[in-house]
Amino acid sequence: MLVATSRVYQTSCTALRSGDEGFVVDSPIYPDELEVLPAVLEQAGFSASGLLATHGDWDHLLGRLAFPGAALGVAETTAARLTGEPGAAQRELRAFDEEHYVERPSPLSLGQVQALPVPGHVEIGGQEIELHPADGHTADGMALWAPWAGVLVCGDYLSPVEIPMLSPRGSREAYLATLERLRPLVEQARWVIPGHGSPIEGTRASAILDEDVRYLSDWALPSTRRSAAQRAIHEANLERAR
Ligand SMILES: [Zn+2]
Repeated sequence: MLVATSRVYQTSCTALRSGDEGFVVDSPIYPDELEVLPAVLEQAGFSASGLLATHGDWDHLLGRLAFPGAALGVAETTAARLTGEPGAAQRELRAFDEEHYVERPSPLSLGQVQALPVPGHVEIGGQEIELHPADGHTADGMALWAPWAGVLVCGDYLSPVEIPMLSPRGSREAYLATLERLRPLVEQARWVIPGHGSPIEGTRASAILDEDVRYLSDWALPSTRRSAAQRAIHEANLERAR
């Protein structure tokens, strides 16, 4: 596994490999980060046979800006979302770029999107990556469990830097159910790669899981995630839960 963390939102991009096959899960955000990604992976001996995205939020979907020819595999729920909201990711990326004066060499095209059955698995170099449903943050999404590596790529859950965020189509109950679904995987994991924040060891992820259950049950803000930005997310969560 090789993980790149974006300078903005600490969005994670995870390369997984087995044998001479490799997948790139989610994406960094800034143009220079995307530009350097193919060379970094190649130097480290990783190939990008395909792209995967944990869910359909724009900040996780930019892999094709680094690998324009690659197909993008997503959960069936995410594929349905992308079809149902055509151009939404592009619009939100454009809004981010305009706000931060970011210029890109080319616009985002999602290209060929493959809908993957979840629960299910994808093959990679003689091994299997398990796909587990991960809804609640949004209404779509999946977590990826690579048993041979002890790596869990969980999407926007278990973040050391961001409290649980309920998007407009998110759900507190679904979020809690996803956390319980992830728990046995977290307990076996050597590394957990959250959608935002650096990779964390399984024991730390277990502690964050408990904090997040407490947050969603009692709205108790975790002591290390109380910045102004996290409080704003908290207010939006309360609004949505009402
Ligand atoms: Zn995200």
